[in-house]
Amino acid sequence: MSKRDYYEVLGVAKNASDDEIKKAYRKKAIQFHPDKNPGNKEAEEKFKEAAEAYEVLSDAQKRQRYDQFGHAGMGGAAGGGTQWSGNMDDIFSHFGDIFGGHFGGFGGFGGFGGGGNSPRYNRGADLRVKVHLNLQEIANGVEKKIKVNKYVACSHCGGSGAADPSSVSTCSTCHGSGHVTRVQQTILGAMQTQSVCPSCNGDGKTITKKCPHCNGEGIVRQDEVISINIPAGVGEGMQLSVSGKGNAARRGGVTGDLLVLIEEEQHPELIRDENDLVYNLLLPVTVAILGGTVEVPTVDGRVKVKVDAGTQPGKVLRLRGKGLPNVNRYGHGDLLVHIGVYIPEHLTKDEQKLIEKLNESPNVKPNGSASKSFFQNFRRMFE
Ligand SMILES: [Zn+2]
Ligand SMILES: [Zn+2]
Repeated sequence: MSKRDYYEVLGVAKNASDDEIKKAYRKKAIQFHPDKNPGNKEAEEKFKEAAEAYEVLSDAQKRQRYDQFGHAGMGGAAGGGTQWSGNMDDIFSHFGDIFGGHFGGFGGFGGFGGGGNSPRYNRGADLRVKVHLNLQEIANGVEKKIKVNKYVACSHCGGSGAADPSSVSTCSTCHGSGHVTRVQQTILGAMQTQSVCPSCNGDGKTITKKCPHCNGEGIVRQDEVISINIPAGVGEGMQLSVSGKGNAARRGGVTGDLLVLIEEEQHPELIRDENDLVYNLLLPVTVAILGGTVEVPTVDGRVKVKVDAGTQPGKVLRLRGKGLPNVNRYGHGDLLVHIGVYIPEHLTKDEQKLIEKLNESPNVKPNGSASKSFFQNFRRMFE
């Protein structure tokens, strides 16, 4: 299923202000809120969809990336699209003024469906890493293995934090639900609100005897080698997210995501211009006059290129498809060879005589059409 455009989801224009986006989201959140649509799967989906759109469009940096790259720019290392990774607490923190309470009961996506009667899920922190890529890796895509130090589930207690299964008991304050419920008057009328159980912090359980290896947390720090598939066509500053590869959550919650920031190494000869590559080729004046074959670098080695006799400086040769693939997998950039001509600075007496002889020929003087094309090239620089 393809994802809907975030602006369309919120029903705002591409150039909507932050305030308009917030207002639009607020409207959708009220309309599709699970408390107002109990058991309605479609409303629940719409609610999540709006939350995801708001999460991106309310953040200047994410919004810019989304505008530039679409959904592909928002993560999903294998190009499989992004999964919204925020948690429900984040959503409700935007709306403390409407709902007036803290909806700890939902926890994460897993908390829906249970009608808000299941304990809160802990979520592990996201892990951020930088990956350096050269142009060849960017052109072809690459699998990178990186070592990270992160929280993983404690192997002694299976992540529960308890010394043994008998030392876990149901919380007596919330009877295992992880939250306490109260009814409150809001601008939407009477609303049942839930807040996190103060006794167990939403776990729904209390541990009488802690696992000694993790001190009851259920997680330990450890080095881990993670393999990341980087799709072709990524660029400097893009961020990929690999879901479930971040830090483990305490006491058996949901593992966070691994966020991979792309850093691009400069190529010694090729300059990147979005999906195109640019190479500045300096021709000997004789080759520009006589024509010939020259070598040009590409990301996958050098290729031979034919230069016509009478090639003017400023001419651009376009090698189709020799640029970079688009990260969204439509289209492919070109390699643009910008031609300059080298005029020799030092000549021997013999060479000087040759040029003087050449200078007597009427063909070395620019004719009308050559002047015109030179002028047009020159003017193009100012457009
Ligand atoms: Zn443990
Ligand atoms: Zn409790």
